[in-house]
Amino acid sequence: MFTKKNSIIFASLIMVILAAVAVVIVMLTTSGNANTAAPTATPDMQANSSVRTPGTTPATPTESASVPSVTPDITPQVTAPATAEPTVTATMTPEPTAKPTPNNKPAGNTSSNPLYEGKKVISLTFDDGPSVYYTPALLDILKERNVRVTFFIVGEMLTYTKGPSIVKRAFDEGHEIGNHTMTHVNLKKSELNVALAEINGLNDKVEQITGVRPTLLRPPYGSYNAHVRESCGMPIIKWNVDSRDWDYIDKDNIKKYAETNNISQDEAKSILVNQLLFEGYTDTDGTKYKSVVSCLRHGCIVLFHDIHPGTLAAIPILLDYLEANNYVCLPVSEMIMTEGPAPSAGEVYRSIRSQ
Ligand SMILES: [Zn+2]
Repeated sequence: MFTKKNSIIFASLIMVILAAVAVVIVMLTTSGNANTAAPTATPDMQANSSVRTPGTTPATPTESASVPSVTPDITPQVTAPATAEPTVTATMTPEPTAKPTPNNKPAGNTSSNPLYEGKKVISLTFDDGPSVYYTPALLDILKERNVRVTFFIVGEMLTYTKGPSIVKRAFDEGHEIGNHTMTHVNLKKSELNVALAEINGLNDKVEQITGVRPTLLRPPYGSYNAHVRESCGMPIIKWNVDSRDWDYIDKDNIKKYAETNNISQDEAKSILVNQLLFEGYTDTDGTKYKSVVSCLRHGCIVLFHDIHPGTLAAIPILLDYLEANNYVCLPVSEMIMTEGPAPSAGEVYRSIRSQ
């Protein structure tokens, strides 16, 4: 915007003005009237703060330092008495930007949104699909019951012929399509450029299919680092209820349970699903797990995977329970927005409230 020469002249002018202001402030402070510094600082603050827009990635320490840059850059060179600095700094400190403050207060027992008064609002999320075997049947179940969820899909699954059309159907039926990377990579262990390619590649794919870019990132394994969080340009959505469907009601465990107890796999599936949802269970290594329903609270984000036969069996039973117990299911973004601003880039959510 400015030439270097102009910038130097401009900065020099500002320094002179600030020095003068500081001296005036000292004089006024001494006489008990120190409020006159603010107006001179305001125009610069507004100009600088326009660099950032609401909803962008929260400022890194470097970025946030650049917002009130006049204060730290210039005051060390000002020869005014040191006692004047605190006054100037205090009046010049801008509000960080218009970025909405994420809602991080503890969620209540029921929704604070009048639309859902007395209800517990939760999100069911399904990772690792779309599965050409299970996702269409899951979509049938959800459609029949008028329930909408969030799918965190993996790019590799779109290489199956029907993969893209399943995603399109899910989107058209009101479900939210989130990002679970191209190849289910561990983002924490990846080089940043690889991590960003995994994330952006999936966003591109989904945009080609649905016309809309995903806005939520669920890192595979829930694993990410500060670089990914700051650079991905998306909110990170974790969970606070892991159904453990990937372990307890996957194909292998159903088969093993059927063989051990000499019952059919359908019977085994039914027993294991019931334990997972309602009774809790003790794993073979002695670890005790609570039932899914005993962990549910208003504002929960629940983790499932639409790639297991057990999950497909569990969902209609769980939906019956939810309907009978005052729960409403919404996609993650919608759930968060019932009680606060839209999830914003760089924020991390395990539930309706950011961390
Ligand atoms: Zn996954």
